[in-house]
Amino acid sequence: MRPWSALPAKARLPTNTWASRGVATVCALCERKNAHQVVAAYRIVVCAECWDLAAEGWPTSAEPVLFRTLAKQGLLIADRNEANRLPRDYAPPADYAL
Ligand SMILES: [Zn+2]
Repeated sequence: MRPWSALPAKARLPTNTWASRGVATVCALCERKNAHQVVAAYRIVVCAECWDLAAEGWPTSAEPVLFRTLAKQGLLIADRNEANRLPRDYAPPADYAL
């Protein structure tokens, strides 16, 4: 019989795994802790720094994360803005009457 200690109790888990069950919210983009900025359109939480960097739209480095998040939740991808970036936040078309 194997004792319980046969389980890999000391395995190193990636940051986002153990943070997701806990106290501090981790930024969806840079994985820093203490993310408070809720981005409703993408349903993610980011830190103030990433939010500020995205004032003109999300940097292209953030796009894989955003696309993955949207796809996972079955959300539509927003149109790019004038800067050819994904808008930082947007109101989903609640009244899409076309
Ligand atoms: Zn961040």
